Amino acid sequence: MTHFFESLSAIHARMHDACRQSPLAVPRPTLVAVSKTQPVERLRDALDARQRVFGENRVQEAKEKWPELRAAFPDVVLHLIGPLQTNKAKEALALFDVIETLDREKLAREVSGLRAQGEEFRTKEFYIQVNTGEEPQKAGVAPKEAGAFIHYCIHELKLPVTGLMCIPPAEEEPAPHFALLRNIAKAHHLPNLSMGMSGDFDTALMLGATHIRVGTALFGERD
Ligand SMILES: *Cc1c(COP(=O)(O)O)cnc(C)c1O
Repeated sequence: MTHFFESLSAIHARMHDACRQSPLAVPRPTLVAVSKTQPVERLRDALDARQRVFGENRVQEAKEKWPELRAAFPDVVLHLIGPLQTNKAKEALALFDVIETLDREKLAREVSGLRAQGEEFRTKEFYIQVNTGEEPQKAGVAPKEAGAFIHYCIHELKLPVTGLMCIPPAEEEPAPHFALLRNIAKAHHLPNLSMGMSGDFDTALMLGATHIRVGTALFGERD
């Protein structure tokens, strides 16, 4: 048994426990394995263990690692979880199934413009990143602006926005941030909630996460 398989089993057990403990938990949350900085050998271990959903934070890195693996594993689902520069939007639309980091008008307009040109892109869903802690260095729309931005993306730009994502401030209790994200999603009838990482995914699941993004607890410390 590989180290990955053991970590994966342990995480599935924790996911199961968290979901049993809370009435807010969704029945089958998705584990997004955060494979940023991991070499292709480690991705192969994960694929051998039947993990299929992965998160990467850089377009260039994902482009180098995934197309070849995808030829062998066509059911791989890739999420972009890092900030997206406007000039990389087209590459991202070709590579990722889900872009979790729609975080500003300029990017939303760019993506919408590319989609309007008629090309078939891989990206079928977008999540809006909300800066729940209103941290100046962090990407995402402020909670009080989220409603207007969601409305703009869905109704004016016709983007298939299906969820929200957040990264709570490192030094704070994450639960209030997860609860806030859940409330915003609920108010706008968005079904997907990407929240919780290695250190706090149990809490996120208990507060209704549909997607948790786990790197270190699966692959070990990153170099
Ligand atoms: C790296 C990263 C993660 C995974 O963090 P771990 O603590 O290693 O589980 C999750 N979400 C985002 C946006 C990340 O950049």
